[in-house]
Amino acid sequence: VVSEPTWPEWGGDAEHYCPWHYWTSPEGGHHAGHLLDTVVGPSVERPGTQQVYEILRCEPCIAIHATPLPSQDALARYYAGPFFDRDKPDYIERYESQRPWWIQAVYTPLLRQALAAVSLNAPERDTLTLIEVGAGMGLGLDAGKALGFHTIGIEPHGALCQRGADRGHRMVQGTLEECSGLRGHVVLAYETLEHQPCPEDFLLRCYDLLLPGGVLVLQVPNDYNPLQRAACQRFGLPQWWLAPPQHLFYWTPKTLQLCVRRTGFTILDMRGTYPLECFMLRENMLYVGNDTLGRQIHARRMAEELLAAVTAECWAQREMQYRQNLRQRIGREIVCLARKDI
Ligand SMILES: [Zn+2]
Repeated sequence: VVSEPTWPEWGGDAEHYCPWHYWTSPEGGHHAGHLLDTVVGPSVERPGTQQVYEILRCEPCIAIHATPLPSQDALARYYAGPFFDRDKPDYIERYESQRPWWIQAVYTPLLRQALAAVSLNAPERDTLTLIEVGAGMGLGLDAGKALGFHTIGIEPHGALCQRGADRGHRMVQGTLEECSGLRGHVVLAYETLEHQPCPEDFLLRCYDLLLPGGVLVLQVPNDYNPLQRAACQRFGLPQWWLAPPQHLFYWTPKTLQLCVRRTGFTILDMRGTYPLECFMLRENMLYVGNDTLGRQIHARRMAEELLAAVTAECWAQREMQYRQNLRQRIGREIVCLARKDI
């Protein structure tokens, strides 16, 4: 682990503060703080063109995010079409080929933990409802159904909604803003929060979806983590995890915790996931920008985690390790379980 004199998570020094980095967003909010990086990426507002995104450690938001932030409307159009049709063409095939890992080593452990944490005032287990926001392929819903949940998926893309419906889930085509009438005991938002232009809004809507005593399950990338930064330093890599406009917010354990708490939740658990960057740092497998190597290391991660998921004891040990790792900010993603108190 390297020590950094200018840790980007929070608390920068006056010398690097850029008061001229100040934006007014279309919604009327404002953003100001330290400029961390500049990235060129596709424009969501003007499809087919590129634009410059600045990555800001924003003081009003207490988070690291891209600016300008696209509007909700433009993003809704993007996720209803181009995101899967143009930018993720092999999405279904790839996820289907990894189904055992997604079900056994990702969603089932997360949902089992949520199930155990739903407040005891909730009704019998066979009436519990799971709502997945940004359901995508619906693998989280499949895992939930196998655990006995009634399953509801919210997904902007029509063909993916149809796919979920074919697998027996109730699907709502659209975004969270259009689903204010739904209620569930567990809300799952897997790698969704980092795509939102206003995560506080998103979390408040998740809060409203939950019945009192219900549990929110979040997973987001753990960005600017020490292993990523060590890899940048050792191999001279750019900050490869920056991916606007798909990823708009770059969460750290601290900024995520603050955002979840200030939207009314009680945090039950936070842990990391597999420290993927170890493949670079320990074995010199430079997978950044190398898809073939990326698939190889992902296959090794999956094999290792599938083995651990065979018994509950083995998986519990692994989770404990991931929980300890996150105290050092280590792990490719952050898992967060939080409850809406009764
Ligand atoms: Zn901001």
